[in-house]
Amino acid sequence: MLSHEEQALLRLEIFADLELFIESRGGFASRDELTGFVMRNGLRMPLVDTSRGIRNPQELEATLAIVSASDVGRNNPYDDAIDRESGLLRYSWAQGPVDAGDNRKLLAALETSAPIILFEKPLPNLYVPVFPVYVIDIDLGNRHFIIDLDDSRLRTSRDVTLDKKYVARVVKHRVHQPMFRARVLSAYNKKCAVCTLKYPELLDAAHIISDSDERGLPVVSNGMAMCKIHHAAYDQDFLGVSPDYVVHINERLLADRNGPMLQFGLQAMNGKLLELPSRRDDRPDRDYLAERFAQFGA
Ligand SMILES: [Zn+2]
Repeated sequence: MLSHEEQALLRLEIFADLELFIESRGGFASRDELTGFVMRNGLRMPLVDTSRGIRNPQELEATLAIVSASDVGRNNPYDDAIDRESGLLRYSWAQGPVDAGDNRKLLAALETSAPIILFEKPLPNLYVPVFPVYVIDIDLGNRHFIIDLDDSRLRTSRDVTLDKKYVARVVKHRVHQPMFRARVLSAYNKKCAVCTLKYPELLDAAHIISDSDERGLPVVSNGMAMCKIHHAAYDQDFLGVSPDYVVHINERLLADRNGPMLQFGLQAMNGKLLELPSRRDDRPDRDYLAERFAQFGA
């Protein structure tokens, strides 16, 4: 058995490797990619279990990862089991006593404050990791482990309340934005809707109606996959998308001369039809596009 120090190091190495891996995949991975995960040092380290929602590698005394059980369809914008007031997630433990089987290692994660990975599943075969998260408490009556989405370690039990705005920011930043990104990039097959650039590291999920607007829900029909430059151009109204899915470039930009990025990257996109997701439900909402397009033309 590895010493406690070696286990802690291994855990951090896994996190570092997962971070690189997941970035190169656009922020999400398939189940096969996670069960076949190999660390950069060559060690095979499955990150999800093939049959259970918890991953307890033999090298570690505490749980490495859990999978959020909620998986209730792509049109529910907040399909997770996170309590929005507290930012806590309740994880139901497996059958049997809390100190036996898989439960024992999750209990060890609570006792040793070991950071773990939470996999959210916005779609059946689409895993979005949130890490590190911490097991901070246990609700014996309801057979729940309490997982804190906030990694600042401000909380030692579920009874500690944090500022609501702070919690909302944490949940949005750590869970909802990555899940929105995963859904949108997946729907667009990891390509920019404007120019088809296919490097996930250079792609964003652009909102049509801003997420600061209460209608700006993190659903695919309120998003478009765009490369960084087209996303920024869209947000700055240098680039518009009309409700018939045609790309428009701002007149001032069209009249300017300034090298190949302007010429090929922006001006050449004028009049182009957007590359749309194959699923009709995933396509941009035309009313939202119209609203945003009015702002572009103004
Ligand atoms: Zn692009």
